Amino acid sequence: MPRFRAILDTVPAYKAGKTAVSADGRSYKLSSNESPYGPLPSVVEAVSKAASEMHLYPDPAATELTNTIAEKYGVPPEHVAPGAGSVTLLQQLLETVGEPGAEVVYAWRSFEAYPLMADLSGVTSVRVPLLGETHHLEAMADAITPRTRMVFVCNPNNPTGTVVHAAELEAFLNRVPEDVLVVLDEAYREYVRDADVTDGLTVYRERPNVAVLRTFSKAYGLAGLRVGYLIADEPVASAVRKTTVPFAVNHLAQVAAIASLAAEDELLERVDAVVKERGRVREALISQGWTVPVTEANFVWLRLGERTMDFAGSCAVQGLAVRPFAGEGARITIGTPEANDAFLAAAEAFRNA
Ligand code: PMP
Repeated sequence: MPRFRAILDTVPAYKAGKTAVSADGRSYKLSSNESPYGPLPSVVEAVSKAASEMHLYPDPAATELTNTIAEKYGVPPEHVAPGAGSVTLLQQLLETVGEPGAEVVYAWRSFEAYPLMADLSGVTSVRVPLLGETHHLEAMADAITPRTRMVFVCNPNNPTGTVVHAAELEAFLNRVPEDVLVVLDEAYREYVRDADVTDGLTVYRERPNVAVLRTFSKAYGLAGLRVGYLIADEPVASAVRKTTVPFAVNHLAQVAAIASLAAEDELLERVDAVVKERGRVREALISQGWTVPVTEANFVWLRLGERTMDFAGSCAVQGLAVRPFAGEGARITIGTPEANDAFLAAAEAFRNA
């Protein structure tokens, strides 16, 4: 039997969101924070055209995509590092600091890929419990040691949907040593409507130890193609580019991302519709008697404790796949109005059962 790294025995497997089908054939996937809309025709057309070039390797530097992103945000292209989904960029970031003894600090519960990626890259996870449902930034700053090389701040936080506000982020950043990289994971940035949440792209311009992670998987609806990007000062971005596997972002993904940026207005209208539904769903849940943290992402969080798996099970019977975290709670993606209505009916039935 070949010998493997000991860590592989303990690495938690990444559990992707599931699907569910009801007895009468209904199925709503509210478990992976995907866009409820299908791809735009203009994006499908661009990808279809590009399909005839799939015998060729993609541009390894994703030059056109990099330049398009740089132009959109008014940053130098050297500050942009595209990747095969932002989760791959997280892995690359960890590889840039992955020496024995290195530590990464992050809130918990947060995005499940953090512990997975940290373990795989040999970086020690330091998890700082949430305060209620939000980041406890003071405790996170206290958790920084001389071994800390990186901090992840998931804003809005997956799975609670909560945000870190401007003043607390500023106070936190002032406490982080300059040789520690703070990664602002803004996978859900486009859904934020709270004006008191700092855009990471303003912060990174003032702080060379701040990197911003964004994705095309959520608001841009390209989860199936795997494309995301990092924006950071040149030394950080170039370190991340060095850790990529060659040709990581495939040609169709590059083309689709560029086409999506060209159709951004239409995509952001869809985001507005999701934000509106988010408000409706939260209000309805509250009037059913649930406690629902304010969410700035495309999902809601219900703290269900020991009832979590029962709740997920009763949703599944109705064809609703939600994302349960056993013993803690469930995250439910905002879907189409029809899917949201089905979810609200299931939530109400569970409460009254
Ligand atoms: N960060 C956060 C907070 C996420 O929730 C996700 C997706 N679930 C990602 C990053 C990764 O997104 P992707 O790899 O699809 O870009």
